[in-house]
Amino acid sequence: MTSLWRAPRGPASSDEPVERCDDVVVGAGITGLVTALLLARAGRDVVVLEARDAGAVTTGHSTAKISLLQGTRYSQLLRHQSEEVVAGYVEGNREGRDWLLRYCDEQDVPYQTRPAVTYAADAGRELDRARAELDAASRMGLPVRWASELDVPFEHAGGVVLDGQAQIDPMDLVEALVEDLRAHGGRLVTGARVTGMGQSMRPVVRHTRGSTRCDQVVLATGTPVLDRGGYFAKVSASRSYSLSFEHPSPPELMLISAGGPTRSVRDAPGPMLLVGGEGHPVGRARSEREHVDRLREWTATHFPDAVETHAWSAQDYRSHDGFPFVGKMPRGMGHVHVATGFDKWGMTNGVAAALDLSASILGGQMPWSRPIHRRISRPAAMAHLVGMNASVGLSLVTRAAGVALHPLRPGAPAEGEGEVGRRGVVPVARSTVDGRSCAVSALCTHLGGVVEWNDAEQSWDCPLHGSRFAATGEVLEGPASRPLPERRMQDGEQG
Ligand SMILES: Cc1cc2nc3c(=O)[nH]c(=O)nc-3n(C[C@H](O)[C@H](O)[C@H](O)COP(=O)(O)OP(=O)(O)OC[C@H]3O[C@@H](n4cnc5c(N)ncnc54)[C@H](O)[C@@H]3O)c2cc1C
Repeated sequence: MTSLWRAPRGPASSDEPVERCDDVVVGAGITGLVTALLLARAGRDVVVLEARDAGAVTTGHSTAKISLLQGTRYSQLLRHQSEEVVAGYVEGNREGRDWLLRYCDEQDVPYQTRPAVTYAADAGRELDRARAELDAASRMGLPVRWASELDVPFEHAGGVVLDGQAQIDPMDLVEALVEDLRAHGGRLVTGARVTGMGQSMRPVVRHTRGSTRCDQVVLATGTPVLDRGGYFAKVSASRSYSLSFEHPSPPELMLISAGGPTRSVRDAPGPMLLVGGEGHPVGRARSEREHVDRLREWTATHFPDAVETHAWSAQDYRSHDGFPFVGKMPRGMGHVHVATGFDKWGMTNGVAAALDLSASILGGQMPWSRPIHRRISRPAAMAHLVGMNASVGLSLVTRAAGVALHPLRPGAPAEGEGEVGRRGVVPVARSTVDGRSCAVSALCTHLGGVVEWNDAEQSWDCPLHGSRFAATGEVLEGPASRPLPERRMQDGEQG
């Protein structure tokens, strides 16, 4: 499933890997590319190592609203943290947004200015949540207002509005950042998946195209790879769906519902209408396809003239207390940095992280980040962390028990289907995609969770920490860095 943004473009070309440089940035999404550019502009020798290609994962599949109003975020954050810490978050996002829009102006990256709206889909709980967000955003100094009537063709009970926000095509931005990085002497090496790191005095990053020794490493990989800080256990992965449509008059507003199931709406040049939502924990949906169908039905009801052009999905990571984790990684001896936990608001948070990380590597600090770094999680956030890991444990046990009782059926699965079962005692994941039948290990190479078939993306998704694999076993995203090993097909199965 390819996004509207990625469909018309080919991948960026790759530079040759090098054995030494000042900084290795792992990951060519918005966070990695902005970090790399800031470091290269400061005169450092920077290499970006990217497992797939630039913008291939969440950034190139984002809805790409650049907004300081972020659903019901401030009312949620203020429930668990002091105003000082939340003010640091707001300020970081403001700097992120302003940097990004200045950059778009300088580099002629097109964007559209739009009001951002958190709307109440009903006059009950959603209205309470939207009103609470109005109060919270006002307390944090944002010039929000209440609109009882919005110019949209679906029922609502009003919404919070923040004028003067923006939206982009994220691949326009990615392409500009790659070109600018190269103009400042930086390199982008694609098809280079980082698999490990050695460290004596200086880090040596091992990847599938060689190894690179450097001073500083930034892991801008969505969720951190290498597992050093145990971040995979402090963030949860949530997948959502997006559809784009040709439409004669989409609302010129960036909307998101205050409650669930989430509905996110924006327009794009064309004119196009984008509808997103239906988020759920990765690998834990009964059927991913049903989520896409629900978005289709909602759109057909409210925008009957819409003609679908693209459907896609993507995931992002939320920390146990809702704040991004940005900074030096434990056990990295001051040389390894990390950025994760943007909770589907990474257009501003990713840039804020890049500003903070590059400042830290260059010997400074962003003043707004201090209270965030020093925050102490309150009991409710710690309880959420315990709950997150309990559900991971439960998923591990129930899924493993289910597979232990389920021998594989004879013959390959039908086209577009996947099945997990045991052959003897070995858990095997079999699928047939585009006429090709594959059998791979059903155990995630990250921490051994049993993978689930994703019937929308035709991939194997791990319900523990959000790693995803192609039907052939190749890593797509998440904390895993090794593919699912191939298993031999049995007699009667077609390879
Ligand atoms: C459906 C959806 C809609 C969203 N809409 C919005 C929105 O409207 N506004 C907003 O602000 N935010 C939005 N977000 C969030 C935002 O898109 C993300 O937070 C942001 O794109 C994350 O960027 P990133 O650079 O951190 O990660 P990514 O874009 O995922 O980049 C990480 C890169 O690291 C690479 N990588 C991973 N592992 C390795 C490895 N071992 N070796 C080498 N490379 C590796 C990956 O291939 C990838 O290219 C949305 C997210 C989702 C899921």
